[in-house]
Amino acid sequence: MSAVIVSGKDLAKEKRAFIKEKVSELHTEKNIQPSLAVILVGEDPASQSYVRAKEKACEEAGINSILEKYPSSITQDELLERITHFNGDASVHGILVQLPLPDHIDELAVIEHISPGKDVDGFHPVNIGRMMIDQKSFLPCTPYGIVEMIKSLDVSISGKHVVVIGRSNIVGKPVGQLLLKEDATVTYCHSRTKDLASITKQADILIAAVGRAKLIGPEYVKDGAIVIDVGVNRLETGKLCGDVDFEAVKEKASYITPVPGGVGPMTITMLLHNTLQSAQNEACENKTFSS
Ligand code: NAD
Repeated sequence: MSAVIVSGKDLAKEKRAFIKEKVSELHTEKNIQPSLAVILVGEDPASQSYVRAKEKACEEAGINSILEKYPSSITQDELLERITHFNGDASVHGILVQLPLPDHIDELAVIEHISPGKDVDGFHPVNIGRMMIDQKSFLPCTPYGIVEMIKSLDVSISGKHVVVIGRSNIVGKPVGQLLLKEDATVTYCHSRTKDLASITKQADILIAAVGRAKLIGPEYVKDGAIVIDVGVNRLETGKLCGDVDFEAVKEKASYITPVPGGVGPMTITMLLHNTLQSAQNEACENKTFSS
C-alpha cells in the first residue's frame, strides 16, 4: 500500500494562519508588532532565496522584517556590531544571521553574540543547553517543524524507535533530543556508521538529514515506517530532491514527507512562531529570557 504523503505545505498554511491571528491580537491588545531582523552576508543564491522566502512569510503573517545585506568582505567585528545594535533595539524581537558565513567569520562567535532572548533560530548555546534540560527556550526551527509534523499524524511517538541519519548541530542532534523528550527511543547514525541499513530498518520513524540525493532506498526502510526527509539536494536536471528515493520508499512507508513541500515550509513556519513567541515574551511579565 502506498504511504500517506505528509504535506508540510498544508500544515504550514494552517499554522501560519494561527500565527497571523496571534500577531494581530498582540498588535491590537498590547500595541506590539513582532519584528525580525535578518542579516545576509554575501551572494550565495541559496541563502538569498531562503531569505526572500522568510521575508515573504513574515509579510504574510504581519511580522515586520528588516533585511540588512552586506558584501562577503564585511569583517567579523562589523557584523558583531550590527548584532549589538539589534540586541539593544527593543522594537526587534528576533535576530537571524543567514548561514553559511564567509570563511573569515567565526559562525559560533556570531551566533553567541546574538542575545539568547532574540535567537529565534534557536542556535545559541544557551538555547540548545536549555532545550537539552527541558527548559523553555527557542527551539531550532527545522527540528521543531519536524516534531510538529509527526505530532500532526494519527500516531503516538512514545516508545517508538526513531532513527536519525545525520548528527549536525542544526538538524540531526536536536531533532533526536526533541523526540527523546516525547519518549521515543532514539538512535543516531552518521557518516561513520557501519551497516546503516541494518539500523535504519529497525526504525518506526526514520529521519534522513544527510544532504545526499536518494541515499535512502526501500532497502533501508521497515514496512510501515514513518519517513521524514529533511534533505534538500539539487539534481543535474535542476530539480530539487530529498535524501530519500521518494517513489520507491512511498510503496513501503506508512507516511512520507515530499521534497519540496515537506519539511521546508515547516522550518519557516517555526521561525515565525519563535518570533511571535519572543514578542509575546516582551508583553508578559514572566519573560522566558531577559534579552
Ligand atoms: P550537514 O552536512 O551538517 O550534516 C550531514 C550529516 O549527514 C552529517 O552528520 C554526516 O555524518 C551525515 N552523513 C553524511 N554522509 C552520510 C552517509 N553516507 N550515511 C550516513 N550519514 C551520513 O547537513 P545538515 O545541515 O544537517 O543538513 C542535512 C540536509 O538537510 C541537507 O540536504 C540540507 O540542505 C537539509 N536541510 C533542510 C532544511 C529544511 O528546512 N528543509 C533545513 C536544514 C537542512
